[in-house]
Amino acid sequence: MSWMDPPDGRPWALLALCAGSLLLNVVLIASRALEGGAPAPVAESEVVAAVTAPAAPPPAAVEPVVAPASEVEVMHLAVERSLAYTFDKADGARGDVLAAVFSRLFVWDLDLTKDLQPGDEIAVAFRYEADLPVIEAASLRSKKHGKAFHAYRFTPTGAPFASWFDETGEEVAGRLVRGPIDDYEQITSLLKDRPRHRGMDFKAPVGTPIVSPRDGTVVRTDWNWSNNGNCVEVAYRDGTLARFLHLSQTDVQAGATVKEGTVLGLSGNTGHSTAPHLHYELEKAGKVVDPIDLHGLTRRTVPDGDRDRFVDARRALDGLLAPEA
Ligand SMILES: [Zn+2]
Repeated sequence: MSWMDPPDGRPWALLALCAGSLLLNVVLIASRALEGGAPAPVAESEVVAAVTAPAAPPPAAVEPVVAPASEVEVMHLAVERSLAYTFDKADGARGDVLAAVFSRLFVWDLDLTKDLQPGDEIAVAFRYEADLPVIEAASLRSKKHGKAFHAYRFTPTGAPFASWFDETGEEVAGRLVRGPIDDYEQITSLLKDRPRHRGMDFKAPVGTPIVSPRDGTVVRTDWNWSNNGNCVEVAYRDGTLARFLHLSQTDVQAGATVKEGTVLGLSGNTGHSTAPHLHYELEKAGKVVDPIDLHGLTRRTVPDGDRDRFVDARRALDGLLAPEA
């Protein structure tokens, strides 16, 4: 899954909210009916009969069906067949989305299609923000690797976004060396994730500067708008074509010479894009190139000044993840 494509199960939260409020309404209608209030419409009263068959609780006793968005949920799972299957079995459509978000944390160190074995242990603590799961902490104990991988969400001092770090304080996600964007939330799609998706996706707020990672020449801008939105293509000196798609604005024109670091435009959500992100794509001699191969990867670590705060955060998150005694 990429950030470009809405996850299949994305409407789950709306559905859950609808289902929750429907149930609540039904219960309230039932109590009114029992109290001799106005008769409910036929279709609803049929549902009432089914829902309230045992005993209609008084309205005051009705618990909210949907947990508040900020509440942290914890899951402990044993891998069966695949991550998607495991999460789907645990939590249906919500689980499908969670599986995708979970995968992004561990895709850097594990081949999630080959390395997982039945019985590998997963622990994940998460909450929902705007209908999407945000993982606070997660671990994956891999039999094949003979170790557990960890990810703890933490915001270093001064950083624009939180990220995930392992138990030693090293960021779980790699970063492109001298990449096209500095301030992004997360890489949400790697080239290897999907065969037909030709690039790497960076989730970033609209308006984030996009720079040319290499010296080169602007070949064209804003072609095939319905797919690409505002976009720039740069030919690097070595002949590699680099494309930057879905921008909110382009700041260069065809024929311009650019240096490494020249601002090409600002990130956006234009063209065929469902959420603000940069799509970065490379091609050489007609073949797609993995940005990781051209740039190489680096990993950040928690800065020394944040060390104590990180250790405290990690300890608290480990407490969340620990199975209940
Ligand atoms: Zn993309």
